[in-house]
Amino acid sequence: MAEAAAPTTATRTVKRNGAAVAREIGADICVVGSGAAGYAAALEAARIGRKVVLVDGLPALGGQAVNSIIGTFCGLFSNGTHGYQFTHLVADDMLRALGEQENALYYRHGPHTTVVYYDEIALGRWIEKSVQAAGITPLLGAILRNVKVDGRRVQELEFATRYGDVKVKATGYVDASGDAALSWQAGFSCREPQQNRVFGTQMVVLENIDEANQPTREELSARLKEKGERYGLLRREGLAFVIPGRGVAAMNMTHVETPLDPLEASEKALLGKDQAERAVHFLQSEFPQCFGKARVRAYGFPGIRQTRWIVGRQQLSVDDVRNGTRFPDAVARTSWPVELHDHGSGHHWHVFPEDHVHYVPLGSLVPADGDNVVAAGRCIDADVAALSSVRVMGPCMAMGAAAAHALDLAGNGSVHQIDVAALQKRLTDNLDRTDKPW
Ligand SMILES: Cc1cc2nc3c(=O)[nH]c(=O)nc-3n(C[C@H](O)[C@H](O)[C@H](O)COP(=O)(O)OP(=O)(O)OC[C@H]3O[C@@H](n4cnc5c(N)ncnc54)[C@H](O)[C@@H]3O)c2cc1C
Repeated sequence: MAEAAAPTTATRTVKRNGAAVAREIGADICVVGSGAAGYAAALEAARIGRKVVLVDGLPALGGQAVNSIIGTFCGLFSNGTHGYQFTHLVADDMLRALGEQENALYYRHGPHTTVVYYDEIALGRWIEKSVQAAGITPLLGAILRNVKVDGRRVQELEFATRYGDVKVKATGYVDASGDAALSWQAGFSCREPQQNRVFGTQMVVLENIDEANQPTREELSARLKEKGERYGLLRREGLAFVIPGRGVAAMNMTHVETPLDPLEASEKALLGKDQAERAVHFLQSEFPQCFGKARVRAYGFPGIRQTRWIVGRQQLSVDDVRNGTRFPDAVARTSWPVELHDHGSGHHWHVFPEDHVHYVPLGSLVPADGDNVVAAGRCIDADVAALSSVRVMGPCMAMGAAAAHALDLAGNGSVHQIDVAALQKRLTDNLDRTDKPW
């Protein structure tokens, strides 16, 4: 019988000599932010053969879709109870893979549109495995802290991680940071809401709920209006939607400020949890049959809607959204309502007719000041109301795919001068397909 190997107890003494040296890596495309827009951009860029680095400030992939526990893909289907799918490519792979797992996806064919509930743990693992399988280099827990720019081209990004600094040099960059962090640090012009901030939300997952006795949305809304003040709730609407078959509910009932000042942001994040606790108390007391024994199983990271975004070559306006303008350089589409959370007690909600479609132009994704950066997701250029519609995850994924292809077509040239017809040909499924999966 072979002898067991002796345990390895040897150590070595280490000491840093001189200044820390940053790791340096290169890529064709570097994507900053791994939320719905960022993971779609990275996976699409890898699929067309580009070498990709995908960076996130969190030590996990998935952005808000996974880590803020959003729970529902919106804006992915046209209006009506059983509409067609607007966004394909990476979205198809994702829906197929999650659909094969028990209780990881649930299509809710509501009277207005189809939304897709998802299990955030399953989504997170699918993103991680897809990134690995695609050969993408992940760089996690890496905060962007400097952007080197030469004229209109970003040359290099510098990140700080707990294990030391990393520099990434790429031909093209996707700003999928949600807060336009890359464009801001590059010194490009950006926009912020002028007066009222757009509120975010502290999401909560509740367990021990009785699915069979859930209140209707109308009952919940009426009770919130009537009694919300008694429970100290700022927001007097919202929902706690039960995810069928999982025995849990996702609670979206708070309105929390999401400032860009680091100290204020930290303070508001904790206040958001106080608000969420009060909302849980409200549910337990007012709907005891369903929520009487509910317990908080998880708090998401702060849910952030709209903070800072780029100044693009074109700003998408709410009139374009209302009119369904199909731009000559359209790259994404949706029919999600205007959903503007601009006051503490509620939000503006403007639903469009069943045949309505509105589009996002490439001009809103490309910063006016840069040639090798494309924004995607909730930091593209749109007015406050228009952005409140196109920032949901269906169009975010479509914008991510468009960003990958735009940079691929630009190569060493400018994203402002690419062949738009060639780009749209690659994105045909996301612009023109209308077949129904039902
Ligand atoms: C409470 C709430 C509920 C919502 N409900 C829905 C819904 O039901 N359905 C729906 O489709 N949409 C919903 N939305 C909207 C949607 O979730 C977001 O707009 C969308 O997820 C944004 O995706 P994104 O990829 O643009 O950005 P994010 O998901 O915000 O990803 C940005 C990533 O960039 C990283 N990052 C930022 N700055 C830096 C930096 N300096 N350095 C390194 N990394 C950085 C962040 O860590 C983050 O992971 C909701 C939003 C909120 C807040």
